[in-house]
Amino acid sequence: MASYVLPVLGDGALVELDADLGRAAVTALAVTAVDPGGVPRAKFVTREKIAETHRSGLGAAPSWHVFCIDNGIAFTPELGVVGDQRLRPDLRALRVLGGGLAWAPAEFSEQSGSPSPLCTRGRLRETVDELASLGVTATVGCEVEFVLTAADGAALTERPWSCYGLTAGLDREDFLLRLLDDCRTAGLDVVQCHAEYGDGQFEISFSPSDPVAAADMAVLARIVIGRAARRAGLAASFSPVPFAGGSGNGAHIHVSLDHDGTPMLSGGPGPHGLTVEGESAIGGIVDGLPGVVGVLAGSVLSGQRLLPGHWSGAFACWGLENREAAVRLCAVEAGSANIEVKCVDPSANPYLATAVVLGLIVDGLRRRTPLPAEVTTHPADAQHRTLPTDQTAALDALRDSAQAKHILGADLLSALLAVRRHEVSAFEGQDPSAVADRLRFAWSA
Ligand code: GLU
Ligand code: MG
Repeated sequence: MASYVLPVLGDGALVELDADLGRAAVTALAVTAVDPGGVPRAKFVTREKIAETHRSGLGAAPSWHVFCIDNGIAFTPELGVVGDQRLRPDLRALRVLGGGLAWAPAEFSEQSGSPSPLCTRGRLRETVDELASLGVTATVGCEVEFVLTAADGAALTERPWSCYGLTAGLDREDFLLRLLDDCRTAGLDVVQCHAEYGDGQFEISFSPSDPVAAADMAVLARIVIGRAARRAGLAASFSPVPFAGGSGNGAHIHVSLDHDGTPMLSGGPGPHGLTVEGESAIGGIVDGLPGVVGVLAGSVLSGQRLLPGHWSGAFACWGLENREAAVRLCAVEAGSANIEVKCVDPSANPYLATAVVLGLIVDGLRRRTPLPAEVTTHPADAQHRTLPTDQTAALDALRDSAQAKHILGADLLSALLAVRRHEVSAFEGQDPSAVADRLRFAWSA
């Protein structure tokens, strides 16, 4: 656990990077980390300070790991007011965003330089390594959903929304075209973009990549979308439930898998061409999901989204192209078969959500978890069990999940539980629409 140290770039590479950033007219770098409650946090440094920041990091109190969405701090016996950590940007992942700003994801280390067990990006990297130790490589793609609102957070109500509508897209053409251009500047490779089901809702999906880069992209996309919305005099909500009773935002994760270069989700003897290992991978996810919903969809609002009929993957089952199943097997063409985990929402930390999905795959492969029966209809018709939607129940299941303990480690698990339990007590008994209003931009950038 926590054996990974972010490498330091050499002096030559840092000088070269500084020259590149000078040519790109970069004034400042946004150094970000996402906390266990899924909120992106940042420090900004000037271009002149980037190399030094990369080498020695910026100070960050341990309480960064227990900041809460209402600005409370869920102190634990281990995470109090004493101590300090270092936050170091991974400059290999730096992107220039335009307008003088660059961005890089950061990792936490102890002051001694040793890695912090509370670093969520480091945690994902370790899970990727664990998968690699089994000979397995995962490729991950993110779907990003968001709801555009007026700058003050009010719903946009110019005319009735047409989901997947050309009108909905063209009404926001200026915003969309500039956003796609910004994505290009930031090196985000957009697969497609469309008007989603909910009023004012859009989705952008990005090309698959290695898991850490994919989680980075989910963070970067939020920043790029947030900036584009501001420029257009709008705002973008990444809440699981931007407006109570309306469509939720998902943050679906697609994973394809290969073992020493051979696809695991196609070309095998199992259903739809799954290999024996591919079956165990899906078996591991389906089996472990009820225990990790507290990570994937664990916020106080998540349960309002994770409901039957919302295509949010509310049921703990799998099925080929089944949009109500938490695990949808997408098998368009043999070579590109992938698993879509649909229950994930944007209140999840993308590094932890990806680590959990991959960690359950590791677990399935190790235990050779059998593939459960496929659900080929609406899971409600088969009276299939749903995932927990009550936040307390989801957190209790998370506390008791052996898989979660292994994947996250004790420190991160305890920080995450503290933050989410704080949400339970802060918002308990409140009107759902008041909570949705209060938290509409809690996960925005
Ligand atoms: N907005 C839906 C969700 O909350 C997903 C719709 C879809 O893309 O299938 O997950
Ligand atoms: Mg969608």
